[in-house]
Amino acid sequence: MATDRLIIFDTTLRDGEQAPGFSMNTDEKLLLARQIDALGADIIEAGFPIASDDDARAVKLIAEEIRRPVIAGLARCDPDDIERAGQSLRPAARPRLHTFLATSDLHLERKLRMSREECLRAISAGITQAGEYADDIEFSAEDATRSDMDFLCRVVETAIDAGATTINLPDTVGFLVPREIEAFFTEVIRRTGGTDGVVFSAHCHDDLGLAVANTLAAIKAGVRQVECTINGIGERAGNAALEEIVMAARVRPDQLFYTTSIDATQLVRASRLLSELTGEPVQANKAIVGRNAFAHEAGIHQHGVISDRRTYEIMRPEDVGAESTLVLGKHSGRHAVKRRCEGLGHDLTRDELDVVYRAVVELARRRKPVSNARIAAIVDGLKSAATAGGAGEGPA
Ligand code: MN
Repeated sequence: MATDRLIIFDTTLRDGEQAPGFSMNTDEKLLLARQIDALGADIIEAGFPIASDDDARAVKLIAEEIRRPVIAGLARCDPDDIERAGQSLRPAARPRLHTFLATSDLHLERKLRMSREECLRAISAGITQAGEYADDIEFSAEDATRSDMDFLCRVVETAIDAGATTINLPDTVGFLVPREIEAFFTEVIRRTGGTDGVVFSAHCHDDLGLAVANTLAAIKAGVRQVECTINGIGERAGNAALEEIVMAARVRPDQLFYTTSIDATQLVRASRLLSELTGEPVQANKAIVGRNAFAHEAGIHQHGVISDRRTYEIMRPEDVGAESTLVLGKHSGRHAVKRRCEGLGHDLTRDELDVVYRAVVELARRRKPVSNARIAAIVDGLKSAATAGGAGEGPA
């Protein structure tokens, strides 16, 4: 099976930023855009210019400064929206105008109060207008996965005829399961003439925790662009996490036949920067970038990792810019305590280790993980007790 190069479309600054608690000011957006550039994303969606003057300014500043990746700006299929996005993107070296309209009957009838025919006309007009500002045009059919299949195929054909070069079919509300989204993309791509000259794109949400799994299934069906965010942030439960899509193929090239341009050693740095800028912590057990992603506390696991890291680590932490940590807690064993003491410069005898080990476990029972400073204090207490002729009683 041939390995394809996947286009990484980062929407941390648009879909991600629009989630509660994740808003950033213009300076913060610029800092993050530099880091996403350092990561090597192919496309950075910098914002939604019609949403506010700040959004428009951020898109313009990012377009002025960040020159390597494509810079995308979002607009509804509406003349004012598209004009605003087009003007904000004017300084870009490689602008992409990204326009969208909902296509499910639910959205058309209840939200937009628009008929299907009106929807098709708006898409055609919007994409034609977008062509005044960029050659690179993406169209997104909002709520595509809950749209009528026959109508959606007409939408896709209309968008391509009007000049769209990327067709994004979002699972806007995170409703599909992997087998279903694979069949969905397979059918749309087959019925609309294949992928010659047009890139199909997936944009999956994580309402059922399936955003990354669905993205991988979409890739299998012929999707060549994926929309994702750092730490998986985004509306509601978030988007597909960029770091997970990237590392899945690095760890399982025998199952996943794509590569990306991402410099994985920048992943943890990008995750931490985003968390710092927004003040929103990453959950400890988050894959790839969480605090516990390469942390081991249980004695059996620690012994394994000390002997050979591959026993409990499927990727090397340094490959994503993280480090492996043996956490000393109440589940830890003697091996880890010994290793930690050696790291702190203390070679302990068997009896000394016993005493320190019991003290660590006792301490960990009452508090959270035991710090290096606390261990050093325990060992120091032990050594000075020994010098004073004491019996090495375990310091608390
Ligand atoms: Mn979205």
